[in-house]
Amino acid sequence: MNFEFTEEQKLFAEAVRKFAHAELEADALKRAHNPRFPFDVAQRMSRQGLLGITIPEADGGQGGSLMDAVIAIYEVAQSCPRSADVVQSGSFGPIRTFAEYASPALKAKYLVDLLAGRTVMSLGMSEPDAGSAATDLKTAARPDGTHYVINGTKVFSTFSPDAAVFLVYARFGPGVGGIGSVIVARDTPGFHIGAPSSFMSGEEWSELHFDNCRIPADHVLLGPGGFKKQISGFNVERIGNAARALAFGRYAFNKARDHVATRVQFGRPLCEFQGLQWKFADMALKLEGAQLLLYRAAANADRGFPSAYETSLAKAACNLAGFEVAHEAVQAMGALGYSSDTLVEYCMRRCRGWMIAGGSVEILKNRIAEDIFNRRFDQRGRRADAAE
Ligand SMILES: Cc1cc2nc3c(=O)[nH]c(=O)nc-3n(C[C@H](O)[C@H](O)[C@H](O)COP(=O)(O)OP(=O)(O)OC[C@H]3O[C@@H](n4cnc5c(N)ncnc54)[C@H](O)[C@@H]3O)c2cc1C
Repeated sequence: MNFEFTEEQKLFAEAVRKFAHAELEADALKRAHNPRFPFDVAQRMSRQGLLGITIPEADGGQGGSLMDAVIAIYEVAQSCPRSADVVQSGSFGPIRTFAEYASPALKAKYLVDLLAGRTVMSLGMSEPDAGSAATDLKTAARPDGTHYVINGTKVFSTFSPDAAVFLVYARFGPGVGGIGSVIVARDTPGFHIGAPSSFMSGEEWSELHFDNCRIPADHVLLGPGGFKKQISGFNVERIGNAARALAFGRYAFNKARDHVATRVQFGRPLCEFQGLQWKFADMALKLEGAQLLLYRAAANADRGFPSAYETSLAKAACNLAGFEVAHEAVQAMGALGYSSDTLVEYCMRRCRGWMIAGGSVEILKNRIAEDIFNRRFDQRGRRADAAE
């Protein structure tokens, strides 16, 4: 067992660190408070080889590993937290599922612009009545000659106000086996994108309405029976979500550590008070433990899809560590930490959302329990008052 990065990984980390410091750090504050997707960053990252890290070279990606993309998220976030979303969008998000399953014609149509940072893809999975119970989704795909007709509504999709293309989970028939996914371009007739709403993080999302929206039949990504494959792809997204939570927690930790090392109250630097020392020791315990779980999940997954158990452990640990550490970092920095002149409060708000998004901490714990007890726990238990 080796807990060190390889020489290649160290060199990659250093190159990303230098790039992020030189190109992204100066505008980090401005970017964090702008809800729009930073296409300028995406284009710079594309030139730097930081988009499509996990996508095969044959598809125009970098052919790297999940671990490489985790490293990139960490290094970018230490200079510009918001820009870590761009690494996510180019390596972990729906783009990864798309690159895995799309036909050569679909890839040719969409992947070039996505990997150049000119466009971004959004995932439409959640619906007003299907959140954690994702398989309750109602958005329907009905064949009609050479096309499919889509009807339904999606909510909370990240990057939806800016995305040019959407990977949409849809129902081709009843039950889990009836679920698949389709690709919908923003300008498709019958596809309406609502006015943006804001999350606590400042990010925006729009309701997506499909009203007899006709897509060509070759825009079906995965037909009926595709749900399992989509969820395997979604485990990759969870690694990216966990990586950002951990990186943002680390960013807040480092800022707060530097602050208490020099800030003097009662004639002494704050770090000389044991109450603060223990706070930082607890924060380090959380970050280091979560980091090991994340690295294990990412490294074991190599270039395939990661294990659901390891991913659930990693995401839950990183989501909790990221938020709890950023929350304590705000406290340790006093009013300065609470001020939007630093990015520590921003990191706290972002980390809070990841405890809900992409498999909430509770849903992940349900999944972890299934491995612990080696059985499946059906969440759709019969109601107590159900008829015999
Ligand atoms: C920042 C952010 C970004 C997002 N991005 C996207 C996106 O890009 N695309 C997309 O499709 N969706 C996205 N979502 C939506 C996200 O996937 C859902 O919020 C999530 O699945 C939870 O669904 P819900 O919000 O409807 O909560 P609900 O499912 O209503 O759950 C409410 C609470 O009950 C708990 N709960 C529910 N069921 C159980 C259970 N069986 N056992 C224990 N606890 C349970 C949940 O953990 C949660 O705390 C995003 C959400 C956020 C916050």
